[in-house]
Amino acid sequence: MGLLTSIHYGITILAQNFFLSYNKEAMEIKKRKISIIGSTGSIGRQALEVIEKLGDKFKIIALAGGNNVELLKKQAEKYQPEFVSCNSHPELVSGSHNAKILTGMAGLEQICSNKENDIILVACSGKVGLRPTLTAIKNGIDIALANKETLVMAGDIVMSEAKKYGVNIIPVDSEHCAIHQCIKDINQVDKLIITASGGPFLHKSVEDMKNATVEQALAHPRWNMGKKITVDSATLMNKGLEIIEAHHLFGFDYDDIDVVVHPQSVVHSAIEYVDGSVIAQLGLPSMHIPIQYAITYPERFEGIKSKSFSFAETARLDFEKPDYEKFPTVKLAYEMGRTGGTATVCMNAANEEAVFAFLDGKIKLYNIYEITKKMCDEHKVIQNPTIDEIFAVDEQIREKTKEYIAKFSY
Ligand code: MG
Repeated sequence: MGLLTSIHYGITILAQNFFLSYNKEAMEIKKRKISIIGSTGSIGRQALEVIEKLGDKFKIIALAGGNNVELLKKQAEKYQPEFVSCNSHPELVSGSHNAKILTGMAGLEQICSNKENDIILVACSGKVGLRPTLTAIKNGIDIALANKETLVMAGDIVMSEAKKYGVNIIPVDSEHCAIHQCIKDINQVDKLIITASGGPFLHKSVEDMKNATVEQALAHPRWNMGKKITVDSATLMNKGLEIIEAHHLFGFDYDDIDVVVHPQSVVHSAIEYVDGSVIAQLGLPSMHIPIQYAITYPERFEGIKSKSFSFAETARLDFEKPDYEKFPTVKLAYEMGRTGGTATVCMNAANEEAVFAFLDGKIKLYNIYEITKKMCDEHKVIQNPTIDEIFAVDEQIREKTKEYIAKFSY
């Protein structure tokens, strides 16, 4: 390197350092502006705990809840957002806060088109998340995504829109968050390895599972979550949905996405590089950590710090192949994922209606799979569907599933 070149090089480095530190200061002053869709749900409530712990790092622009207006009102009073949105009965949300009260899908759309947001956490459950997510993407707002249905129903559209508008989609789902943390260069990754706790029936007989009560299905050994996802974890459909989610998020073929049962839920997922090196993300199970990772990415803060995982005090970590005879949902999800188009829309809608019927005591746990499989077998798949076609199929399948369940006897 010549003298002039080296002086030039030195000045460049100095200038870069100056701008870096200047930007760092600016970053520290600037609060990240966030809105939460689904603030009264399990993920939403934990996200607010994370935000509270992080103190002055965030400014909450909007909170949207569903039917729990009482909690939404309390949240509005505590966090003083600019907007709150609920499903119905907006009068019940007014209280000692100055937030503008919105309702329904229009409310969610208004929140998600507010360019003031740096990031929106989509933490509602069900198909409600899809349209607001697309709106936020079109407005260039990054998404912390906890809503599986958004990708299961319309992964192709959502990911191509995110690419088009240069929007980051950071997964909150613990497995996908783990994979996101492991990936340095996605082009060098050969395989994704998604772990599954196996749920409460892992070592129970198929008979036990068939006769399971709602209480037994809701008693998840590792994670404390909402009812729908807990039942999905008992049938392993949750893992099926996560395979589809991973396919869209990371752009991997279904052949390159493996599932391994890991009852301790310490290894949250792993990836295999082209040279065979496997990188996994570990930690004690807590949803606070993936939520915190997603909303603060690419930075990392202590925040709600997880209790340290001790290798020395851990007697063993077990891994086993999933039993597809006992948990055929995973196989069905691979099949529907490979079929593509509206196949996954159908599977998701039929499964959700069947889960609701199970929670209402109308069918048995094992019937959830049988009903979902029947709906998938009879569905005429539309390839490359539009958003309207996706919603139409979703409605159709829900109606058909409900009709079928009404006549169902077990
Ligand atoms: Mg998960």
